[in-house]
Amino acid sequence: MGKKQFKAESKKLMDMMINSIYTHKDIFLRELISNASDALDKRYYNAMAQGETGMDRADYKINLAIDKENRILAVSDNGCGMSEKELETNLGTIAKSGSLDFKSGVEKGSEVEIIGQFGVGFYSAFMVSDKVTVVSKAQGSDEAFMWQSTGVDGYTIAPCEKDEAGTVITLHIKESTEEEDYDKYLGQYTLQQIVSKYSDYIRYPIMLDMEKTELKEGTEDEYETTTEPTQLNSMVPLWRKSKSEITDEDYENFYKSKFYDYEAPLKTIHSKTEGQISYDALLFIPKHPSFDYYSKDFEKGLQLYTNGVVIMEKCKELLPDYFSFVKGLVDSADLTLNISRETLQHDHLLKVIAKNIEKKIKSELEKMLRTDREKYEEFFKAFGLQLKYGLYSDYGRNKDTLKDLILFVSSNEKKLTSLSEYVDRMPESQSTIYFATGETVDKIDLLPQSDSVKAKGYEILYCTDDVDEFAIQMLHEYNGKTFTNICAGGLDLDTEEEKETLKKENEAAKEILDFMKESIGEAVSEVRFTNKLKNHPVCLTSEGMMSLGMEKVLSAMPGAEMGMKATVVLEINRNHQVAEKIKALYETDKDKVAKYAKILYAQSCLIAGKSIENPTEYSELVCELM
Ligand code: ADP
Repeated sequence: MGKKQFKAESKKLMDMMINSIYTHKDIFLRELISNASDALDKRYYNAMAQGETGMDRADYKINLAIDKENRILAVSDNGCGMSEKELETNLGTIAKSGSLDFKSGVEKGSEVEIIGQFGVGFYSAFMVSDKVTVVSKAQGSDEAFMWQSTGVDGYTIAPCEKDEAGTVITLHIKESTEEEDYDKYLGQYTLQQIVSKYSDYIRYPIMLDMEKTELKEGTEDEYETTTEPTQLNSMVPLWRKSKSEITDEDYENFYKSKFYDYEAPLKTIHSKTEGQISYDALLFIPKHPSFDYYSKDFEKGLQLYTNGVVIMEKCKELLPDYFSFVKGLVDSADLTLNISRETLQHDHLLKVIAKNIEKKIKSELEKMLRTDREKYEEFFKAFGLQLKYGLYSDYGRNKDTLKDLILFVSSNEKKLTSLSEYVDRMPESQSTIYFATGETVDKIDLLPQSDSVKAKGYEILYCTDDVDEFAIQMLHEYNGKTFTNICAGGLDLDTEEEKETLKKENEAAKEILDFMKESIGEAVSEVRFTNKLKNHPVCLTSEGMMSLGMEKVLSAMPGAEMGMKATVVLEINRNHQVAEKIKALYETDKDKVAKYAKILYAQSCLIAGKSIENPTEYSELVCELM
């Protein structure tokens, strides 16, 4: 019988399991029971779908058996079983997506994280055993096979005998060491504890032959030990229990085991709805995005149950994209068991549930923002980006749902603020909400325009995510207040009088300014004097819908066209020495004014975080002046 090799990644995972120092080794049982339960679901589902009779729902069981002497713990189920090929593909490879991330995870060496992210499944058996045997017979087949492995050096598969369809997993439990007690896994009380902690809600009976020592009937001091099959789990799904019966720890354990997270959820939402439509929803907001959350592999959705039987693993119709980070399940007796992907989309009932769930999540988030600011900010740091994308996408259709959930860092103490808080703080003289885009808060602070806005006592919202400005543009206004990009031509801080003087000055200097524009060329649409700079000589502003920040984001996208350019204006501080110098020079040395124009333009680009088109020319011009 030839030994087969594990796929490289499976081998790594297994090696990690065998040598694991993971402190929650108990979870191996949870994983095996959860696989058994899935297999029973599958068998039940197939039987229903094919109109098969014969087996009663009450016959579906998971059995645990202990043989202390031979150090054996067996977990068996009469579920769908596995064919020879399935044994090979399911147990010889990790079928999970994201195996690349898994590799980098191994390099990071954070075992807890990997166990958390991947759930480790079947291989976790190797944390407690030195040999694992799987005997399985697939539903509807008359052949059975045995898979066996003692660890990383491979596995064997051979035909064997088995009466009923289903799977028996036999673990040969490791010898205890000084650091680690493995013997406990051969004890009925430990098993009972583990089951009630992690697998209580499993909807099939988990049976164990428990020994009971009792006073022998008719005697006063004679004891006898009997064994009787005992059900270890209550079988009531957690979400069906009344909330008063459930502890935070119950929710936490349930979440971790079901959604493969190593951390407790940030927020648990358990809602029971009765009425025209009745359903239970158990929703969780994770603390962190999962490793694939912001990748295209990520699939949103809630698990869908009817009467405690799972009908769909990821029902995406139940969650809008902007709340795609929510994990959880919905159970409604009003849904039918043989619902399909196609009919789901038109299911009125499901639409109503989805709408209610969306409202519930929104109101819970709003409540968190009001009553637990710290937690909300933690949430926002993890998933705020998704909310901002949500605001922007679908042509802003969901902006009313999302506008009050968005936060920005504000120049006011450099803290996160909501738009409503910002507006509440606006002084009477301020008519618009100011924002600025840039890579970091510090870089935005260095923009020449920032000083003047702040000097007026106005706050600036810092937009450091690419999507920010697009989201703001989609919002258009908040409670009647428009938004103004401080780097756009629309920034207007002048009094009427100042405006008038400036206008006159620009008109008087028209010839000089036009000459400067000609010298710079196509890159700018205009050169003009401005009042809005305090100490800096120049700045670059944009005109129209497309800002410099947006130009940068759009041109970095794959397939970007050259045409996406902002219309820019070079603005010169009319109160700066440079302005006087230029005016004087224009009379005596036009050539030099042309060179100055180019230098000033290049400087304004650098300040705005825009690359300069001809750095060599700029460098030469500066050297010439020196
Ligand atoms: P996961 O359960 O997360 O898919 P596992 O490593 O635990 O990963 O299991 C791999 C696969 O092996 C399962 O998806 C399932 O197809 C199969 N499997 C495991 N245990 C059983 C079982 N008791 N009965 C039938 N199939 C099983």
